[in-house]
Parts: sequence; C-alpha cells; structure tokens
Amino acid sequence: MRALSKSKLMAFRQCPRRLWLEVHHPELRADSAATEASFSAGHQVGDIARRLYDPKGKGVLLDPQTEGFDVALARTQELLQSHQPIFEATLRADGALALADVMLPVRRAGKPGWRMIEVKSSTSVKDYHRDDVVVQSFVAHRAGVALAGIALAHIDSTWVYPGNEEYQGLLREEDLTGEACARGTEVRAWIADARQVLSGKRAPVVSAGRQCGTPYECGFLGYCRSQEPQAEQPIDWLPGRLGKGLQAHIEAHGVSELRDVPDELLNERQQRVKAVTLAGSLFFDQAGAAAALSAHRLPGYFLDFETIQFPVPIWKGTRPYQQIPFQFSVHRLSRTGKLAQQAFLDLSGADPSRRFAEALLAACGERGPIFVYNAGFETARIRELAERFPRLAKPLLALNERVVDLLPVAREHYYHPNQRGSWSIKAVLPALCPDLRYGDLQGVQDGGMAMEAYLEALAPQTSATRKAEIERQLLAYCALDTYAMVRLWSAFTGTTLSV
Ligand code: SF4
Repeated sequence: MRALSKSKLMAFRQCPRRLWLEVHHPELRADSAATEASFSAGHQVGDIARRLYDPKGKGVLLDPQTEGFDVALARTQELLQSHQPIFEATLRADGALALADVMLPVRRAGKPGWRMIEVKSSTSVKDYHRDDVVVQSFVAHRAGVALAGIALAHIDSTWVYPGNEEYQGLLREEDLTGEACARGTEVRAWIADARQVLSGKRAPVVSAGRQCGTPYECGFLGYCRSQEPQAEQPIDWLPGRLGKGLQAHIEAHGVSELRDVPDELLNERQQRVKAVTLAGSLFFDQAGAAAALSAHRLPGYFLDFETIQFPVPIWKGTRPYQQIPFQFSVHRLSRTGKLAQQAFLDLSGADPSRRFAEALLAACGERGPIFVYNAGFETARIRELAERFPRLAKPLLALNERVVDLLPVAREHYYHPNQRGSWSIKAVLPALCPDLRYGDLQGVQDGGMAMEAYLEALAPQTSATRKAEIERQLLAYCALDTYAMVRLWSAFTGTTLSV
C-alpha cells in the first residue's frame, strides 16, 4: 500500500470521511476561493522562507511533483550526507510520507545533524500545526534523520516591511522539539486508523458540521451537503453565538429545523429570526430605524472601501496581512436631495495609501455624517492611515468622529425571511431595493472578487485592455455599494430620493 502523505493524515485528523473522499473520489472536491488564496499565501511565504534560511543560495530545492517521489526520496538521502540546506526534503517511513519545508545542517555537541523547520503563512501556532510538526518529526526520525531540533516558523504580524526586498524578521520561530519528539506513538495510531478508514468500500458516514470548516475549509462540503436531507429552514440561520443550552439541546435531540428550537433557548434577535422565518413575513420597525438616524442631518456621505492584503508585504511601511485600501466610493446627498458620487481607484501598483488618504479627505468634506455599513472596518483603516501619515492624522481621525453605522440600525429594525440570518448589505438589499442587483454587475460582484481583480490588474502580464475593463468593473461595484447605502438610508428614514 502507498505511503500516506502528511496532508492525507491531516485530512484524516479533520474528518475520516474527508480522507476517504480525497483518496477515492478527489474529483468531488471543490476548493473555495478562500482556500485557493491560502494556498497562494503558503507559496509566497515558502519562497521568502527559502531566501531567509539560505541567503547565499547554496541550498537545494526538491520538487517531487515534477521529478517523481522515488527520485526525490533518493536525492534526499544523498543530500542528507552533505552540508547544504534542503527544501522540500522528501522522507518516507512506517507507511507515511512527509516533505520538510526547510532542513538546515547544524552541529550539536560536535556531531552533525539537521534542524527541521515547518513554515506556515499563519500569524500564530495553531494546534493543528503542532500535529503537522509531530508527523514531520515522526517520519524524519523513523527515516533515520539525525534531528537536532524542530521548529515552526510563522508570520510575525507586527513586523513592518522596511523595503528593498529586505524580509529579515518576517518570520518568527517557535521551537517544538520536545513536543514533536514525545508524540510519536500518536502518529502510529493515526496511520493505522487512517488505513482502516481507507480500506472501507464506502465513505464513513459523517454528518456535515463544525469539523467541515475547522481547521481547514473542506472542499467536499458541497458534496456532503448534497447527500444529506436538507432542512427547510435550518438552524444555521440563527445569527450570533448559540448559547450552551441551545447547543446541548441541538446535540441531544438532533434538531436541524428552526421550528424545533425552543424560544427560551434563543436570545431576542434569534427569536425574531425564528418568528419572521416561520411567519414568512417581513419585520420592519421603520419608525425605530428613523428615530435611530434622526440626529444625523444632511448633507450625508455614504462611504465604502475596497482593500487588499498581502501575507508578504510588497510596500514599504506596511505589515503582513495589513488591509490596505486601494479604492473608495462616496455618495454625497445634499440638504436639497442632490446626489453626487466621487470615486478613487489606484491600479498603478504603487502603494495607494497616501493618495487614498488625501483623496478621501477631499471627498468627505468637513462636516456631515459619514454613513458606512459595518463601521469597524472603515474606521480601523482610517486609524491605520492616520498612524502611517502623521501629518494627515488629525483630519483623518476627524472623519471617524463623523461615522454613523447603518448595520446596527438594520439589525435592530429590519429583517426579511430571505436574509437567512445575515445582515450583510447583499442580504438586506434584495428585499428592500429589489431593483439594485449585484448579480447584474459585470465581473466584480463582491469584496473577494474585487481583491482578485485588483491583483490581476497589477500583474505585469495583464493587457491594457483587460486592465481598463477591470477598472470599469471595480468602479461600478464600489459605486453600487455606496448607492445601496443611500437607498437603505432612504428606506430607514422614510425619505423619498429625488433621483
Ligand atoms: S464536508 Fe465535512 S463531513 Fe464532508 S468530508 Fe468534509 S469535513 Fe467531512
């Protein structure tokens, strides 16, 4: 039987059914854009790690996918006799296969050995990383590697990129030698149990649940859900955290329908979602919504940002995974009801931050409420810009003083059964303003697509024609976001727009 790779053992640790499907029906897997993005982040961080751990470029990078596993295994054994860094060292022992991100030759107490480092694109060490390292360590030990230490290197999210391709300090190491060496027997049990699962003729029966998104989003979720009876009005639509009593009730009684959840186990908002869903009719406390917004007089600004983040920063003065705004749209509604829009979008490839901050200040004027949807996001970006550009800090922070969040107003006073437990603007809009449809937009239709489009526009191989098309799509998408807010505000306040 073929050796089980570390990723297969990790799949087994997440869910035995996932392992079985990955081996017997890989064609059923459909990874989300978020999963693809995390693979891409892993590759970017891996590339930088090789530069950091081998600044003189003396190491050897193996590529078992291209050269074949048997060749990579044999080359690893040869390289282990040398004294140069090895990347993707390929090791097999006791029915398991592992690729080591980084192997560095060291001397401990006069003896040659190897320091093994697993590189992760996350910003901390998670429990499943520890399992990952335990498997690496087990295979390396059993393959006869003289391990002198095992560490996990992850991104230091507080590090600031100084520019000039200088990435020293991006990664922070945590030594896991003791733990990794002490848990070898667990790995033996995982291998035996995983083999048992794989020998079955059918996939183990496991209901979709929390394990489907923890620690990784499982690409078989669509398939698994399609095999299960679908709840008509699932309890997944309940917003917020489920109380302990409710969780215990769900587990004890196998509850999947909202109608079967006792009211006394729900908080006020959850009770409303349940009641509205079962009744199939709208809840709209328009008077309450209008009262909540009555203190904020026109002229009003309706603001939305689009941002990009890089695990490995590309612009000086920015941190890993920092959300960097590259686009905004502002709709301004005057006292007389005149509506005008301004937009900013930088597709130059240079750090857009300063130009963004200056354009934002110019577009938002000096007084009047600034309506946003989910204010924490925009206000945090404005605070970060203020930190980066101290000379603009005062007027930028003054913008935050004017921010009014429409999301809590929607949460408190509006719910349509079609929202299915969500108050995202895209969930609220269809019932309130059915003429505004994100689905009608060409290309970019959500924030994730905006990020992808931005990266595509920056790529050197993107043609000028395509870049112009992306620009149009991004501008149309962000403008719809802010116009949608104008319409929400109009419905909440009971104001008729003259446009
Ligand atoms: S979707 Fe959930 S139940 Fe299905 S294989 Fe993945 S983790 Fe298991």
